[in-house]
Amino acid sequence: MWWSEDEWAALAAAEQCGMCADAHLPANDHSALIATTETSHVRLARNQHHAGYCLVILREHVVDMSELSPAQLSAFWADVQRAGRAIDEVLRSKRIDYLVMGHRMPHLHCHLLPQHATDDPLRTVNIADGPTYLAPDAFDTALAALQRAWASSGFSTER
Ligand SMILES: [Zn+2]
Repeated sequence: MWWSEDEWAALAAAEQCGMCADAHLPANDHSALIATTETSHVRLARNQHHAGYCLVILREHVVDMSELSPAQLSAFWADVQRAGRAIDEVLRSKRIDYLVMGHRMPHLHCHLLPQHATDDPLRTVNIADGPTYLAPDAFDTALAALQRAWASSGFSTER
């Protein structure tokens, strides 16, 4: 059974949105900030079950991609592309899966889930795999590497 009208309205409301509350923070319970652009916050997930798992989160509270102008849409996907390049540079992944869902967190964001040589390519991707948490220094090292790779890749304008 899908959300009730009231449940969905509450989930979709900017005032109660968890991503609006913490996507800009250097660190929160779920992730740490790699970079911020005019359009997005790029974050490294704390759950590194898929090494290099990142998120690109639209800064504005928009529930669905269909609400974006062509320019906003292009800027968002440019940030996603750049994040993918940064992940690839650091992790040398085989493939990155780009997932836009939003049925539980209806604030537009894209999950970037790298696939590695040890992964079974026939297995369905699940963002809930794990959780696998790195030691704090390993997480900080990965974050710094992705920040450096982000800075040296892509075309979008850094804030
Ligand atoms: Zn939001």
